[in-house]
Amino acid sequence: MAKGKVYLVGAGPGDPELMTLKAKRLLLEADVVLFDRLLSPDMLKDLKDAELIDVGKTAGNHKLTQEKINQLLISKAEEGKVVVRLKGGDPYVFGRGGEEALALLEKGIPFEVVPGVTSAIAAPELAGIPVTHRGVTSALTIITGHEEPGKDSPLDWNILAKLNGTLVVLMGVSRLEKNVDALVSGGKPAQTPAAIVEKGGWPEQRLIAGTLEDIAFKAKEAQIEPPAILVVGDVVNLAKKLARKKIAIFRPENQLQESSELARQYGLEPICAPSISLEKRSMPDDLEPRLERAKCIVFTSANGVEIALQNEMIRSGLKDKIIFSIGPKTMRALEKHGISSEVPDEYSSEGLEKLLRNRCDNVLFLRSAQGSQYLSDDLRKAGLIIDDIPLYDVIGSDDPRLDHLIGRASTIDIFAFTSSSTARYLLKRASELGLEKELRKALTRAKVAVIGKPTAAELERLGIRVDVMPEQFTFEALLQSVQQDDFQRSE
Ligand code: SAH
Repeated sequence: MAKGKVYLVGAGPGDPELMTLKAKRLLLEADVVLFDRLLSPDMLKDLKDAELIDVGKTAGNHKLTQEKINQLLISKAEEGKVVVRLKGGDPYVFGRGGEEALALLEKGIPFEVVPGVTSAIAAPELAGIPVTHRGVTSALTIITGHEEPGKDSPLDWNILAKLNGTLVVLMGVSRLEKNVDALVSGGKPAQTPAAIVEKGGWPEQRLIAGTLEDIAFKAKEAQIEPPAILVVGDVVNLAKKLARKKIAIFRPENQLQESSELARQYGLEPICAPSISLEKRSMPDDLEPRLERAKCIVFTSANGVEIALQNEMIRSGLKDKIIFSIGPKTMRALEKHGISSEVPDEYSSEGLEKLLRNRCDNVLFLRSAQGSQYLSDDLRKAGLIIDDIPLYDVIGSDDPRLDHLIGRASTIDIFAFTSSSTARYLLKRASELGLEKELRKALTRAKVAVIGKPTAAELERLGIRVDVMPEQFTFEALLQSVQQDDFQRSE
């Protein structure tokens, strides 16, 4: 039988989009794919009938030995198969790809290496650290931090300590403290900037920055886990400017994707942690007469629109009414159903009252049961007859991403609150987890952005300082204001 072929393919640091086109094509053509535990499952999506072998995790949690992996590559190729050996980063950078290539060569098995984006450069880069920078450093040294220094190790830490360029240390989590000490005893100043990039290019990427003196302590405090990279040198300081800021978004599930895409467009790293979810209520028995009585109908959220329009009686009841939306998002949600509405210039009871004045005396609100009462109360005071049908309840979410975020609140740069309930339930959950104090500390350190006045008022009540509020009350306007605020501060 004709021999197959083995491709030693670099998969990049973890983000499936950082794979090369060639890697993607070969995966689609492969009969067998051997991969390690570190790879994102999304990389192996859409494969046809390839046999998938996880060589990083086997029964009893023991890794396959390198010898066994080599044998597997050889035997699969000898069966005539096209084999992809997918490896993290680049196959020839501390990836043992060279060993696999030599083993294949020895058996006369055709092979080809496909370079990948190495984490040694990409992980610092994604965290805002260019490994070289004109005027700062012109050299880069990449080493393993895994070897015990001594007679068997080719690494001489005294010499490494004297190099001026950037030092990138792979596999350095377990020996971090010893390696950092070795650099300082070798003569590298203790104040040299140093950083750890954990899981570069993964959704949970983190950067911990400090100096040689405190980085080991900070990494321990932050409970850094592999894979992580240590970067030593003045380039670390550039992260202050170049790192993408992390924005925590607490919206309910159905709005998360759109919001996180928007955040990315504004150069931010979205961290999704829904703190609320929506629970539909059943309609009241007297829906029909209440609809009939109202001359004007007010919607205050896109969610309210979606839920209301599922009801046939509401859909037909809207025909002869004047419809108002509180903002552009709600207006667009209605437009999608072919319903046009008026939007006040300002999201406030005055704004709404101005629109309603002399046109409506009977107003019906269709909205969340927890909707802020101040709009309707003010209108009542202005002499209008207000009815209110609650369509859904806003409840605290039990999404694990929320707990995860609360545990790592100190790494968040921007907290974005899109309603008072998102803030209330975030604090409630933190207090249930015994982490309210830590969360409040993180909120004090970070930038707090709110979508509008009622949310700002709620945060004030909760004792949280608000830094940014847009003039227009949309999530995009909030992102714009955050960007503007950053820009002004950096000037
Ligand atoms: N061939 C790989 C490196 C393999 S050695 C490459 O070119 O990237 C494994 C080490 O790489 C880990 O211990 C860690 O130090 C580093 N590493 C791999 N992926 C990483 C990532 N996404 N973020 C940070 N470090 C990573």
